[in-house]
Amino acid sequence: MTKLKRLLRRRKNLIVVFVAAATSFLLGVMLPVNLRATGRTAPPIQAQVLAVSQPSEQKPIANANGIKGAIARRVEFSQKAIASLDETRFQSSLPSQLKGTTIRQAKLDSQHKAIALTFDDGPWPKTTTQILDILKKNNIKATFFWVGRYLHTYPELGKQVVAAGHAIGNHTWNHQYIKYNEDGAAREIDRTSSLIEELTGVKTTLFRPPGGILNNGLAAYAQKKKYTVVMWSADSLDWRSATQSLMDNVLRQASSGGIVLMHDGGGNRAKTVQALPNIIARLKKQGYKFVTVPELLEMQEEQLKQQKIAKK
Ligand SMILES: [Zn+2]
Repeated sequence: MTKLKRLLRRRKNLIVVFVAAATSFLLGVMLPVNLRATGRTAPPIQAQVLAVSQPSEQKPIANANGIKGAIARRVEFSQKAIASLDETRFQSSLPSQLKGTTIRQAKLDSQHKAIALTFDDGPWPKTTTQILDILKKNNIKATFFWVGRYLHTYPELGKQVVAAGHAIGNHTWNHQYIKYNEDGAAREIDRTSSLIEELTGVKTTLFRPPGGILNNGLAAYAQKKKYTVVMWSADSLDWRSATQSLMDNVLRQASSGGIVLMHDGGGNRAKTVQALPNIIARLKKQGYKFVTVPELLEMQEEQLKQQKIAKK
């Protein structure tokens, strides 16, 4: 995506938020008299946004402090809405021609030098948070492929990852390497995506098969359901490597448009946590920009478009 396009999209988002906030503000100022002491609490942000676009559905809001309170709440609401847009822009939808396909990396000119870090098998206690901290310090957005049953065990960790603006993919419910018929694959994948959406609001269209196995029924089902099956071009082998060699593995295979496989869960990931700051520093030095998988694929589409225009 070009800078201009991103700016325009952002501006469009801001205009929507502004209109929503202004409408909401007016309603907030006009309504509180009727709603005083209803004792109801404010609905969550998403419900509020819906309520704004459908005024007839506007839910009463508890109002103990009269108009002043209403105004304060409206201001807080618009601030929250802007913040949540900032967070969700990384969950952008994928280019439609990539749905139902399998990718190992994006085709990008070397001048773009963008790379996507991906973390599998979480959410996981301690290491997921440590990796979030490292990414935040470096102002990097990454992509996390979750195992449904771990998300079920650690829902708060999952919410933290999404709140930090990272992209999310589906990595099955049980993370097994067995063969699946269609019903079995559906259970593994659908259940995980439902939980992701239920807990975080993210509708993921990314799928990564456990162990990278493409022929046991899971990837076939995912493609049928129009997921993009996301493999990788640089394997850290962090599950079996020492800190130094997992770092070398990533740096040796790093490329423009590349997708790096690492793990934040599924076992002891202390070595990954230890290597990550160095990996980031070295890649930055080489001029790499860090993007999410959806962003990487968008860049590829954008480049293809530019090439088509140039050919004409
Ligand atoms: Zn895995």
